[in-house]
Amino acid sequence: MTHPLADGWFTEIFDQQGSAFSLKVTAHLEQVTSEFQTIDMYDTETFGKLMVIDGCTMVSSRENFVYHEMMAHVPLFSHPNPKRVAIIGGGDCGTLREVLKHPSVEVAYQIDIDEQVTRMAEKYFPELCESNADPRAQILFADGIDWIKQREAGSLDVIIIDSTDPVGPAEGLFAVDFYQDCMRALDQQGVVVQQSESPLYHSDSIIKKIHTDMASAGASTSHTFPFPQVIYPSGWWSCTLASKGGDATVFRIEDAASKSFRTQYYNAEIHAAALALPEFMKRALQLD
Ligand code: SAM
Repeated sequence: MTHPLADGWFTEIFDQQGSAFSLKVTAHLEQVTSEFQTIDMYDTETFGKLMVIDGCTMVSSRENFVYHEMMAHVPLFSHPNPKRVAIIGGGDCGTLREVLKHPSVEVAYQIDIDEQVTRMAEKYFPELCESNADPRAQILFADGIDWIKQREAGSLDVIIIDSTDPVGPAEGLFAVDFYQDCMRALDQQGVVVQQSESPLYHSDSIIKKIHTDMASAGASTSHTFPFPQVIYPSGWWSCTLASKGGDATVFRIEDAASKSFRTQYYNAEIHAAALALPEFMKRALQLD
């Protein structure tokens, strides 16, 4: 539920949780309704541009780096030698930009169902799209569920599910059938990571189900990495990583510590720290 522009504020209301998040907006720049969803762009007083899909905040100029860096660098440093990467969703291109910072990557596919998200990102978030012309980038518009189903077995090293919430076109991206197709498409050392919603609101529901479903799909281990995310419900978000044949908590710590590129949030210490789970999450995920 939203009250856009009430008294010059954009507000996303999380009705089920009795909470809300607001940003002071200076302009409603554009609204596009595609075959799949409604995309709104705002200019805000202190967070730069804001993209909203179906009333839910997606990306702001000021803080998107935390989400995009965790979605990209946690899985890529968890794989011994990531060369072939697929991003399902991620149409704002921010995760793609981070993935392409890894010199080992030979090809990075971005498969978003909605071309309009990418067109809006190109217009309002050019900094997120600065690597779109990299020859290793393959920007495709298709349903990620079908695209993964059609991949050859063992043909991907890393799959990043950078989707909207588990409703509408993204619902099938939070399902055991889709995870089975991901496991089949991954190499034996492959990893899949999914944006997994709020640790505070969703540990004993969506996050727990991802772990159970990944195990049913054949993952050897899985682990949730919490991180701050100011514009999402509760201000606290997570990604959940599942490893096909390895240990989801092991990463190339020395490579992360000596990485050849700049980040704003991610580093080896942040990765190690994000492995620590609060007691309530361990209980919800039955890890203690
Ligand atoms: N960081 C965001 C968040 O967690 O709120 C997600 C950003 S990204 C814009 C999410 C993208 O997932 C959207 O562009 C949407 O079009 C895409 N998407 C949803 N369902 C999809 C599907 N079945 N296949 C491919 N892309 C999908």
